[in-house]
Amino acid sequence: MPVEARGKSIGALIHRREIDPESNFSFGEGGAGTWSDGKLTTRIGRNSGPVRFVLETLVKYGAPEKILVEGSPHLGTDNLVRLLRNMRADLRSMGGEIHFGARADKFIIKDGTIEGVGAACTPVRERARANDSEELGDPTPGLEPTKVFRGDAVVLATGHSARDVYYELHNLGVKLEAKGFAVGFRVEHPQPLINEIQYGKDWGGRVITGRLSTDSANAEHFAKDAKHYVSHEGTLPVASYRLATNEAFDGISNRGAYSFCQCPGGQIVPSSTEDGELCINGMSFSKRDSMWANSALVVTVSPNDAILEPWSAHGCLAGMEFQRDMERKAFMLEGGDMSAPVQRLTDFVDRKLSQCVPSSSYRLGVKSAECHDIYPEPLYNALRNAIVTHFDKQMPGFLCDEALLHGVETRTSSPVRVLRDSTTLQAIGVDNLFPSGEGAGFAGGIVSAAVDGLLVADAIKAKFFAHNNETKLFDGNFASVGYEY
Ligand SMILES: Cc1cc2nc3c(=O)[nH]c(=O)nc-3n(C[C@H](O)[C@H](O)[C@H](O)COP(=O)(O)OP(=O)(O)OC[C@H]3O[C@@H](n4cnc5c(N)ncnc54)[C@H](O)[C@@H]3O)c2cc1C
Repeated sequence: MPVEARGKSIGALIHRREIDPESNFSFGEGGAGTWSDGKLTTRIGRNSGPVRFVLETLVKYGAPEKILVEGSPHLGTDNLVRLLRNMRADLRSMGGEIHFGARADKFIIKDGTIEGVGAACTPVRERARANDSEELGDPTPGLEPTKVFRGDAVVLATGHSARDVYYELHNLGVKLEAKGFAVGFRVEHPQPLINEIQYGKDWGGRVITGRLSTDSANAEHFAKDAKHYVSHEGTLPVASYRLATNEAFDGISNRGAYSFCQCPGGQIVPSSTEDGELCINGMSFSKRDSMWANSALVVTVSPNDAILEPWSAHGCLAGMEFQRDMERKAFMLEGGDMSAPVQRLTDFVDRKLSQCVPSSSYRLGVKSAECHDIYPEPLYNALRNAIVTHFDKQMPGFLCDEALLHGVETRTSSPVRVLRDSTTLQAIGVDNLFPSGEGAGFAGGIVSAAVDGLLVADAIKAKFFAHNNETKLFDGNFASVGYEY
């Protein structure tokens, strides 16, 4: 769905708890990164050619130029929506066709070559208000219920939440492999507390966002120690953090545990794509001016992890089914109304239900629950150990009563990889099928997914336009391991 209509679906989710499986925080024009914090950080090489190309392209479509020089650039949802509209208009002006409301559900493969996809189609006009459709210039009036799109190449970039696509590929014999991922919770602190921990009492009061209520809350927080900050001048941006350890002891061995996708001045949002499942994530607007700081706190699960044994009948899709079961558990824990199960961080480490909980940015409501019982014991142990033994030492004060854990954060990256040839980038055994991005297991974040798209475009050019002396734009291996922003 186009971003404008997607905004309405998100409104219906927040206000009426109705989830549209094709238009939500994860799916729709712009993908999962649209209603996000828009962090443009990546670990695949900040100054590598393709990363610079992605940042410059964002600027070309309206992103502020400062993202080219900032150490931790971010855009915010408001900027992303505007950029996408500009990109859409440009694509159309170059003759590109965009078929909104078309969900690929069949892959037409003959003798080891893909020839196209079949898509279930819903005319966009049915879903958007008439005046919106006019504004969008609805490109797909009267789409047939099922339509076949044929082409020389098919790029598969459906993201890590398109679980039906993995099953369809698996049934067709496309080679998939299980890959490592990470699961956990999203923790939220009052932003003034994070400002204090990171900047100290002297400087924390100097954080200014421009939003009256947020700035007053921050000033009030530091007013207790008024003598400190009045002596300083200037302003500071909202404080952020990053925590990590490779020594989160799970009772038998060590796992990796880390904070992820930290959103200063942000809010927690539901990123579920199907009814009956609850998973959450974080987003923010460009000003990062909410009163809260949230971040995923996750622990690693390896592809052949012993905790996946109960799901082993699903083969390479065991990790995905494990994620789904954790999401169903979280959904049912709170009575199935999309409110989030929560627990004070201090109660989580003490394994006890929170008697009352602080306020939260999650707009569908929160309910106190025994979050410590959601995941298998080794994952709980590792996360608890990471919080107590590592994170609270790296950031003294992180483990506190005001910190509220929200369940569950399961989709940090894809638990599956679609195998592809490292030179041609085609799926192993299927000519002309180009798996790309996070869902295919080759990216983990907005920038690396975009870079992988560039590499695939290069590979397609090399295969189909070699006679035009088209040369590759980029050389080198920029594939990411996932969860790296
Ligand atoms: C709330 C949230 C906040 C995030 N914040 C950040 C951040 O700050 N920084 C960052 O780097 N990353 C962030 N991420 C992660 C980032 O969004 C992803 O890593 C990135 O979007 C992956 O890009 P992709 O193109 O591979 O897949 P996606 O963005 O998931 O895109 C997949 C697209 O395929 C479409 N699709 C799915 N199935 C089908 C089908 N069958 N037929 C047709 N189309 C289909 C979907 O509608 C979607 O548009 C965030 C994610 C979420 C959910």
